[in-house]
This record gives sequence, structure tokens and C-alpha cells, in this order.
Amino acid sequence: MRPNPDFGIYLHIPFCEKKCVYCDFYSLENMEHKDVFVSILKKEIAEGARKYQDNLRPATSIFFGGGTPSLLTPEQITSIMEQVRANLPIHPDAEITMECNPGTITKESLEGYQKAGINRLSFGIQSFSQEELDFLHRIHSPEEGKQAVQLAREAGFDNINIDVIFALPNQIIESWQSTLEQAIALKTEHISAYSLIFEEKTPLFTMLQKGLVKPQDDEKDAGMYALTIEMLEKAGYEQYEVSNFAKSNLRCNHNRTYWQAKEYLAFGPSAHGYINNTRYWNFRNLKRYFEAVQLNGIGEASKEVLSLTNRLYESAFLAIRSEGLSKARFMKDYGIDIVEVIRASIDSHIIDEFLILQQTKDDIIIRLNSKGFAICDEISLRMITALEEKMGAVWESTGYEEDDESLINLPII
Ligand code: SF4
Repeated sequence: MRPNPDFGIYLHIPFCEKKCVYCDFYSLENMEHKDVFVSILKKEIAEGARKYQDNLRPATSIFFGGGTPSLLTPEQITSIMEQVRANLPIHPDAEITMECNPGTITKESLEGYQKAGINRLSFGIQSFSQEELDFLHRIHSPEEGKQAVQLAREAGFDNINIDVIFALPNQIIESWQSTLEQAIALKTEHISAYSLIFEEKTPLFTMLQKGLVKPQDDEKDAGMYALTIEMLEKAGYEQYEVSNFAKSNLRCNHNRTYWQAKEYLAFGPSAHGYINNTRYWNFRNLKRYFEAVQLNGIGEASKEVLSLTNRLYESAFLAIRSEGLSKARFMKDYGIDIVEVIRASIDSHIIDEFLILQQTKDDIIIRLNSKGFAICDEISLRMITALEEKMGAVWESTGYEEDDESLINLPII
């Protein structure tokens, strides 16, 4: 049985055949250092495991992200997995995901990844329009996107995600609808549907600054998002986060680790980890990452200790946008009856119209319904404001400092 998310491992593979115009993830088109990278990454895994040995728990998820992990050979993925298993405890039913570019795989390579222990694939399909794929600088065709899922099925994968993007400049709603129809027809267990973001320092952002492209207006973007929720729900996908939809409860456990503010280790250039109330991030430069691992054993560039308040607000923010605020969890982690705080501070019509209050034997969860997801930013802002007001009142009445860890023990919250 799939374990609940508890502890994650993220591995960043920093190579791509060709950079996509919208992408701000760290990756290089030059692959000459691929072999050296694998050996340095393995060194970092061993040293990182040693550094955090007192904080480790069996990993409930492992995620190969990038970049394009499917540019590594099955042998390279196997040797990384062997290193992970030799140094870190892994839950026997851990979800082990690998991101794949449809333009870089064969049935044989997929079979090899599966033998290495990968049990979930995530394909960056993005669109089924050749024109849109060309605009995004993707290396695969619509047909190759479909074939990739077919080959993965033939190789035996029964847990597959596809990523698709909407609100591209000049995209008409009919084109997005067609991409969604073709995505649904593939019957994958999971679909992630993202609205295009103009990230700074990307070629797309430069095009925007030069006036060569125009973002979709908000109304059209919202219309495409509403269509996404409607079509995917009708097709049997349950929305469990702003952009994520799953069938048969096959949610992405690794992302749930992030959204539930659980701990995770991270390896590879630019990778971010979170352990011991500390967020850390590795050098976003292959050469500097190599040097850091050679010198210190790990590629860490910097870190930040999160205060109790930061952890509380961040946990609440992430929970609102995904599986909801759990009374039991916030009571255990922060000593706060979060459901009561929200209920007492937010208009009842918002609760009735956009939220679901779910009562189980041991818990009450307050979460967004599909109408709520459509205006997620507005609702999460209201909820966080309500939480901040409540916490402000607590500090004022008790004299506790915002970052006093013993705040957790206050019985009055
Ligand atoms: S293939 Fe993925 S990681 Fe690489 S540039 Fe494109 S979007 Fe970014």
C-alpha cells in the first residue's frame, strides 16, 4: 500500500536537449559533463546521508526532476538508485518518479528505468498542437507525446502523469479544449495543468519585454482554467491542488510532501531541500556545484532557518492550495485550532460557497471546492489574513514573541 507522504528525496538532473522558452529550471544544453555529474551526484548522496543521518526517516517518495532526467541512460539511473538505496532508508512502497521528455525515450529505455526501480513517470507533453509546441521550443511532436504514454504502458508503467500548459499567447480556447480532450483520451492516472507564467530571465520574458508576445488577458486565462476543472472532473479526475488532478486517488505523493510541509533532502545543482526547520539550496551552476561537493561533500550554496511563525504561515498557505487545513495536524504541529480560526474570521457565505468542511472520525478538514480553486488566490489571501489577525491578537494578549517556539504549548489558541 502506498505510504502517506512523510519524507522525500529530490534529485535534480541538469541537462536538456534544447531549452524551452518559458522554462526557468536550471539546465544546460551542453552534455559533455554528464558522466562526471553522475559520479559527483553519487558522492553528494553519500555525504548528504551522513550529514543528516540523525534526521532521516524512510523516504516515502523519490523524484528525479530537472532538466530532463530521461537524458540519463538506464544504467546511469540504476547506479544513482543503487547509491540512494545504499545510503538512505527507503520505504518499501515508496513512489519513485522520473520526469521524461517524450522526445528522449524508447521502449527499451523505459524498461530499463523500470528495472532501476522507477514506478511513476511524468511526461512533459504541454500541448497537442504542433504550432504551440514549436512556439514553446519543445523537441517533440504531438504524436510523440501520445506514443510516449503508449510506450510507457507497454513497458509496464501503471502510474503516469502528463503536464499540459494553457494560456499561451494567442492560444484560442478551442485549441486548449482540443489539448485537454487528447490528454483525457490517454487515460493517464494524473494530469497537471498549468497556466503559463512569464518567468523572469527566460527567453519568453525577453519576448514580452520587447512586445513580441502578449499574455492572455485574465478573463480568458480564468475561462481556460474553469474549462480545465470542468473537463477533468467530468473525465473522473479529482482536483486535489490548484493545478493537479488525479484518478483513483493516485495523487503525486512527492508533491504532497512539499504541500504538507514535510521534510525532504535534495541533491544536484539548484536543488532545494527542507530538513530540521531549515530550507537549503544548492549552487545553480554546474561548475560551482562540482567544486562545492568536492570540497564539502554537499552542493549547498546557502540555507535559511524558518521560524515557528514562518512555518505556520507557509504550512497554512500550502495546505489551503492543496488538500486543505487539517484541524488535527495544525493542533499537533502548532497548537492551533485552525478550522475554528478560519470559521470565526471568514464570512459564512464564503465557507458555504467555496469551501468544503469535511468531518472524519478524528479530524475536521477545511478545503477548497472546485469553485474555490477557481478563485484560490483571493480565498487563500483571506484565510492567511484571518490567521495573521488571530496570531497578532495572541501575541498582544500573551506577550509572547512571534518566533518563540514555546508558543506551540499555549493552550488558548
Ligand atoms: S525540457 Fe523541461 S526542464 Fe528542459 S527546458 Fe524544457 S521545460 Fe525546462
